[in-house]
Formats: sequence, structure tokens, C-alpha cells
Amino acid sequence: MNILVSACLLNVQCRYDGSGMLHSSVEKLMSAHHLIPVCPEIFGGLGIPRSPAELKDDRVISYIGEDITDNYKIGAEETLKLAKLYNCKLAILKERSPSCGFGAVYDGSFTGIKIEGNGMTAKLLSENGIEVIGESKISDYFGI
Ligand code: SF4
Repeated sequence: MNILVSACLLNVQCRYDGSGMLHSSVEKLMSAHHLIPVCPEIFGGLGIPRSPAELKDDRVISYIGEDITDNYKIGAEETLKLAKLYNCKLAILKERSPSCGFGAVYDGSFTGIKIEGNGMTAKLLSENGIEVIGESKISDYFGI
């Protein structure tokens, strides 16, 4: 099956600090599935490195105070475009990211406090019928 995956989980160095975050369970899926790596923040025109950002009242605000909501919206739309093009029914997205997080995100205070909520891309994909899971759910979901 075609599965959309946060590119940073495949160790693409696209996170705000220029790092990746290889997840072994994602790698394991490659032998049986076609993974489509995406990075909504890059699709939205943000650079590497960039200031970290968090969701606050449906806006995305960077650590240095810029409102970058529009970049996140563009990134979400571009990611949805690819999900539709590849007929993806499932997306495995990086947990707690203001783009990719699903179910829980940071609260906007940059203090590590988590609250219920969805990143902008995860939300848009879910609203369009694509199941979204975080990397910690891979083992249970696939029984691996
Ligand atoms: Fe990873 Fe998603 Fe952030 Fe890109 S936007 S670095 S894919 S969590």
C-alpha cells in the first residue's frame, strides 16, 4: 500500500534544527509498502534550519514571534495533493509537530507542555479521509 510518511522519520535532515529522526519501525515498513516521504514545512516554503514553531489558537507562531500560519497551510495543501495523487489511505506522521502531530501537540508556550490537538497537515489529511497515526503506533498497527 502507498503510505505517506513524515520525511524526518526516514532521517531526511528537514527538522527545524537541520536534523532527521530515523525511526526503525518506519524503515521496516519499506520492504512491504511504498512509502512517500513528505515534509509539509519545507513544502510550505520554510527553510532549514528555521526557528521552532508551535500552534497557538489555530495559528502557528515561531519561537522568534513570526506568524507562519500561511506557510503551514500551503504545506498542508501540498501534502494533501500528494496523498491524493498516490491514493494514500494512511499517513504515518511525526508526533507532536505543529504540522505532523496527531492527537497531541505542544501548547504554544515552548515549555514542552503537550495538549490535545492536531498539527495543520495531520488535521487536513484526517478531514479528507486519510487515517493518520504517529510513529509510536506503528508496531501495534502493523503487528511488527
Ligand atoms: Fe518532520 Fe513533519 Fe516537521 Fe517536516 S514538518 S520536519 S516531516 S515533523
